[in-house]
Amino acid sequence: MTVPILDLTRSFKEIKPEVFSALERIFDAQNFILGSEVETFEKHCAKYLEIPEGSCVGCASGTDALLLALMSCDIHEGDEVITTPFTFFATSGAIARLGAKPVFADIDPSTYNINIEQAMTKITDRTKAFMPVHLFGQMCALEAVIPELHDKDIKIIEDAAQAFGSSRISDGRIHRAGTVGDIGCYSFFPTKNLGGCGDGGMVVTNDPERSERLRRLRVHGAGTTYYHDEIGINSRLDAIQAAILDIKLKHLEEWNEERRRIAEYYRLLFKTNGLHEFITAPSELDGNYHIYHQYVIRVKTKRDELMSWLNERGFAVRVYYPLPLHLQPCFKYLGYKEGDFPESEKLSREALALPVFPRLEPKEQEELVKNMADFFRR
Ligand SMILES: *Cc1c(COP(=O)(O)O)cnc(C)c1O
Repeated sequence: MTVPILDLTRSFKEIKPEVFSALERIFDAQNFILGSEVETFEKHCAKYLEIPEGSCVGCASGTDALLLALMSCDIHEGDEVITTPFTFFATSGAIARLGAKPVFADIDPSTYNINIEQAMTKITDRTKAFMPVHLFGQMCALEAVIPELHDKDIKIIEDAAQAFGSSRISDGRIHRAGTVGDIGCYSFFPTKNLGGCGDGGMVVTNDPERSERLRRLRVHGAGTTYYHDEIGINSRLDAIQAAILDIKLKHLEEWNEERRRIAEYYRLLFKTNGLHEFITAPSELDGNYHIYHQYVIRVKTKRDELMSWLNERGFAVRVYYPLPLHLQPCFKYLGYKEGDFPESEKLSREALALPVFPRLEPKEQEELVKNMADFFRR
């Protein structure tokens, strides 16, 4: 048996006819960038996220979504943005590309998300934004710090690239990831829970002035074509991506539910195989609806040996992420050193992602966990 970390072919089969008819429509029309396909998708996203129509602005990637969000807050050289060192590179890459300084705070060891209390201690006069990441599909509990950040005029930019469809209950209401702060950023990279057939992304905001500005920034800052109010970038969503994403959006709830069932089954299998002394399953914070973009366990010792053991036996397991961002060579100039964020560093030694995707078979999970048990009992 071989089990991939992600197999998109299984769920694609179910939507193939619909996708191909959308492609035919787009090729017949020969309108490939922005246009009505993108408008329709933006409208459906606003409905899904339960935010006002016009709040969603499609762009070329999740990385650009972060960049556009920061640009819309006028973030530039000398500014500081507080974020997590345990995330995909793009989060702090976007901050640094504008000449601003990523300021890190360590993570909460149980959710892997930024430690909010510690993040608040990093605020200085230069802090312009707070950029938490809803890592692996689970939301950060931001609600407690929103008033303080607003008082200090610090913008909250949510990196929800891994969390489209994830939600959290606070103040007796369900809030979707990306709609809690001032701006939410999503990625539609093919491997994300809502993924296209190439790069794509989206920025959302409840503030109509900001969404208008974001629409300008994605077309070189032009409010009217060829008249540039400010310097923007070229970051537009393609019609093909929008059409495919629109088809997939209809299935997203069901697919996310299936990911949750898979997570639940792993938990049960760890128990029946007596693995709890060797590994820790990911935990879900009270009030959270985790969508398991990744299913990341902690392996207490011999993580790399376990990974090789499983890989050799046909089970694709991976490490997200092997080196926290404060220790990346490109961020040496920030002056961080090993030991600065012990929880992030520990997780990078212990984290192991297991396969999780719609239409993963229970049999495949059973075989994988059995092989894990064999490793620990050999
Ligand atoms: C994928 C991802 C991004 C970047 O998205 P792209 O579409 O690949 O540019 C940013 N942040 C996080 C946390 C991601 O997982």
